[in-house]
Amino acid sequence: MARYIFIMGGVMSGIGKGITTSSIGRILKDKGFLVSAIKIDPYINVDAGTMNPVEHGEVFVADDGTESDQDIGNYERFLGQNMSIDNYMTTGSVYLSLIERERKMEFGGKCVEVVPHIPEEVIAKIKRLEKKTKADFILIEIGGTVGEYQNLLFLEAARMLKLKEPKNVLFVLVSYLPIPNTIGEMKTKPTQYAVRSLNSAGIQPDIIIARAAMAVDEPRKKKISIFCGVDEKDIISAPDIKSIYEVPLNFEKDDLGNRILKKFNLKAKKSNGGQWKKMFSNIQNPTKQVKIGIVGKYFKTGDFTLMDSYISVIEAIKHASYYFKAKPEITWISAEQFEENPKLLADLKKFDGIIVPGGFGNRGVEGKIKAIEFCRKKKIPFFGLCLGMQLATIEFARNVCGIKKANSMEFAKAELSSDQTAEPVIDMMLEQKKLLKESRYGGTMRLGAYYCKIKSKTISAKAYGKEIISERHRHRYELNNKYKEILEKRGLIIAGINPEKDLAEIVELPKIKHPFFVATQFHPEFKSNPLEPHPLFREFIRASLKQKK
Ligand code: GLN
Repeated sequence: MARYIFIMGGVMSGIGKGITTSSIGRILKDKGFLVSAIKIDPYINVDAGTMNPVEHGEVFVADDGTESDQDIGNYERFLGQNMSIDNYMTTGSVYLSLIERERKMEFGGKCVEVVPHIPEEVIAKIKRLEKKTKADFILIEIGGTVGEYQNLLFLEAARMLKLKEPKNVLFVLVSYLPIPNTIGEMKTKPTQYAVRSLNSAGIQPDIIIARAAMAVDEPRKKKISIFCGVDEKDIISAPDIKSIYEVPLNFEKDDLGNRILKKFNLKAKKSNGGQWKKMFSNIQNPTKQVKIGIVGKYFKTGDFTLMDSYISVIEAIKHASYYFKAKPEITWISAEQFEENPKLLADLKKFDGIIVPGGFGNRGVEGKIKAIEFCRKKKIPFFGLCLGMQLATIEFARNVCGIKKANSMEFAKAELSSDQTAEPVIDMMLEQKKLLKESRYGGTMRLGAYYCKIKSKTISAKAYGKEIISERHRHRYELNNKYKEILEKRGLIIAGINPEKDLAEIVELPKIKHPFFVATQFHPEFKSNPLEPHPLFREFIRASLKQKK
């Protein structure tokens, strides 16, 4: 029988509900329990695949191809476990499955209503995860902020589950305590309002995670305790800290794990936190630095640049750096500037390694190709991810094989016919052409885990230490096999192939020619975590550190 912990947000969004959920998961896992987690996104979108990452943050891809919220990535990174469709739901997906059941007459002529059927569907999904994972704890993170119209039905599901199983349900509110400059004092009132708002949905929080610039002091803990009806010991300080990976350790300073267990009348089975502590000590005590540049599209919302769109890439760089006790310094480099002023390419020499990550659409593409050419010629360690691999191939085709018009059909703006770009070195996959003709965009890319066979004696072979690997994908285009022969003849190594469909998955340059030039059609960043950095990121950072010397 599982216990359910609902994690909700108060006052404002973006205060770390996902990291809180992941950290609670880590703490309970280290105490010997089986943990799983669900993220609830209040959007009508059936999944995150159709959401613009600038607006919503990264689209995280699971092994089963689920395109989900970036918090699922945090769950994987903190728990070291694979997530799937069962770990994610949106308002849209809940309605969709309910409507599908209604169409199959599963309700036997009854009226199907928003309440109770939607909350019941939510609870059924939670139970499905429980059945599948046999977890001792299911953590359920409700997106958005309490008091929003959008997540009311999910709060209703939480309330109904508590009613059915009062001993098995716990409510955690992650709230924010501002310290206005003009007052210079931490204010508890917004949190009091958030709790009132939660109360009006029939929910009383058991634990409050007090997010603030600094730790919450005793007088304010008292105040929150009195006004919100929560034991002082259950008000957990969550001050701003430098690394998200410190959050579980920080929560434990306030004994959060044992407070949770006590409420369920449970005792820790084990005390396993050593590995996490050791990893964090590497973060805290770096012996060197590594400077990594990410060349991407320039993107902003208003005055703010959202690094969140590439959170898994950034975290994967960090994991690999921590492995070498190095402190990563990560800089976002706008690709478009190289189109306007190629002289700026010389700035890339300041970096120990360059990454060109995934992306869609043609903005900034020519600048990225110039950056890749520069890295290839100046022997700067280069790592290309998905679109980065496609562009590395185009660069090689143009500048080494002399195929001047080499391009991707994605940029030739002619998805449906191959003859509109002269040299489609990167072409749309056949089945994709059909899907797009029918405007079937949602959930139809080549998604999730596919096998890849690695060529022996390559950088990739050495990094993985095995011949067959599995990595996650999210793309519609691929290296056109018609060009394979000439590319290989001129020295590009196709280091990984999908055996079923004969698709190129990894391209490399030989080690004798370049310190590290590797690019993958898949997204290795989705499979990195702080205790197990991804082998290719690890080798990329190793080469970057060497470059530095
Ligand atoms: N736009 C490219 C494609 O669809 C690359 C996608 C990506 O980088 N994830 O194939």
